Amino acid sequence: TAQAKTVAPQLTNIDDLINSVETFIFDCDGVIWKGDTLIDGVPETLDMLRDLGKRLVFVTNNSTKSRKQYGKKFETLGLNVTEEEIFASSFAAAAYLKSIDFPSEKKVYVIGEIGILKELELAGINYLGGPDDGDKKIDLTPGALMHHNHDVGAVVVGFDRYINYYKLQYGTLCIRENPGCLFIATNCDAVTHLTDAQEWAGGGSMVGAIKGSTKKEPTVVGKPSTFMMDYVSKKFGITKSQICMVGDRLDTDILFGQNGGCKTLLVLSGVTTHGMLTDPTNTIQPDFYTNQISDLLAKKVK
Ligand code: PLP
Ligand code: CA
Repeated sequence: TAQAKTVAPQLTNIDDLINSVETFIFDCDGVIWKGDTLIDGVPETLDMLRDLGKRLVFVTNNSTKSRKQYGKKFETLGLNVTEEEIFASSFAAAAYLKSIDFPSEKKVYVIGEIGILKELELAGINYLGGPDDGDKKIDLTPGALMHHNHDVGAVVVGFDRYINYYKLQYGTLCIRENPGCLFIATNCDAVTHLTDAQEWAGGGSMVGAIKGSTKKEPTVVGKPSTFMMDYVSKKFGITKSQICMVGDRLDTDILFGQNGGCKTLLVLSGVTTHGMLTDPTNTIQPDFYTNQISDLLAKKVK
């Protein structure tokens, strides 16, 4: 049974946090922006942290864009963030395949959107599927067979607004019939906030479909898996205890920080309310919580 934990305190000693941290990793949606709208005070907060010499890193589970596309989004919002500071789950999928020396003669079948394709392309990994399979149909006349490519060595599943039965069958055939075929999920978020009006089925729904047909568990490369944290800390040579993970979601961001051995700060500017944090069934508590990242501007350190 779930054990109620002591509820995290509100962040009061901002100076202590800032002084003890070398790198801030920010989740994007709910922390930096909400959909296409910048959250209040973000540019000033990021500038202040940079002026204090902090390294800033941005991690998002949204696989629909590549790092380069996110770079443009940051620019459009008036934020000074380079591609190299951005780690999206689309990039993580490609980086993971590179890290395991995915054979160059093999291909990846993608259930997902353009962000994953662009990152695979940059990594020099051959792929099939993606948006091109969005309007494909299966021949269900009696006796008809669906054929799949036997060189597919991995199926990557991400958020896909154009998912259909063709893609599910193709991915399922690859995983069930190609020996050693990997099943990789960019993320398993249950719901997303595509629009403010309601919650929408998240990447976990697409991953769940393939889990259902293959009875296999995917390798998850997005939050809360440790892959991106290990990647980032290695890439920049950062000690994990000197990282503060800042996010709006308990089961992805805060768990990601905790799984990585980092400090964690929950912000209430996204999907988590104070009531959800204090709910006795909630088992994930950050080190601190605060309303939004611009609260850090109240620091005294110079
Ligand atoms: N996946 C999708 C499709 C989304 O639209 C979002 C948020 O908009 C997310 C994941 C979560 O993104 P983040 O990790 O930046 O909160
Ligand atoms: Ca978020």
